[in-house]
Amino acid sequence: MNGRKLFAGPCEFVAGAATIDALPATTLPEIAFVGRSNVGKSSLINALTGRRALARVSHTPGATRQINFFRLGDKCMLVDLPGYGYARASKALAAEWQRLIFGYVRGRAALARTLLLIDARRGITDPDRDAMQLLDGAAVSYAGVLTKIDELSQAELLEVQSRTEAGLSRRPAAHPELFATSAGDWRGIDVLRDHIATLAEAWGDTV
Ligand code: GDP
Repeated sequence: MNGRKLFAGPCEFVAGAATIDALPATTLPEIAFVGRSNVGKSSLINALTGRRALARVSHTPGATRQINFFRLGDKCMLVDLPGYGYARASKALAAEWQRLIFGYVRGRAALARTLLLIDARRGITDPDRDAMQLLDGAAVSYAGVLTKIDELSQAELLEVQSRTEAGLSRRPAAHPELFATSAGDWRGIDVLRDHIATLAEAWGDTV
């Protein structure tokens, strides 16, 4: 399926869940987005869907503690998971995050793929490793997505790509392909749209 076509269709907010009990019933394949607070997750979801403010670009990192579901036509659901690793977050908040995310990914039959967002300016950081460990532990397949690549020179991008690929290749549940994106200059957006469209379509064939 063509990604542009999928993302040109209607996209609407369906539900927000702050607890596992509040998760909406599964009806469509789900693509989940996860990453550190401030990694550019809202901006990426807005760029993919071509909406300016679908996922609110928040300037208070760590403020969103709920899982938000956006339905893309009748094809798939984009799932915005709360960010992690906010420096000022308390241990209790971190534990709550883990419970919520683990509860979602472990029990979600319709979860087609998780996209783990990594800030291209930093590469994989310790909080990202913790998140990978959680996903590996839940045996959830995930792919890395570098964000904000417009901040880097070509040489810096190549360096962080190979470093990140090496880091991901050591993880049992990580997908080998690494995506490089920018919500600033739109590089990599169509490639990621096509990937999501392919996943959504493949999912339809297996159910
Ligand atoms: P979230 O907390 O992960 O949802 O991150 P946001 O989408 O709110 O973005 C955090 C900050 O990074 C904001 O100041 C954005 O303007 C900035 N940002 C997000 N994406 C990009 C990008 O692709 N390029 C650049 N240069 N900045 C970005």
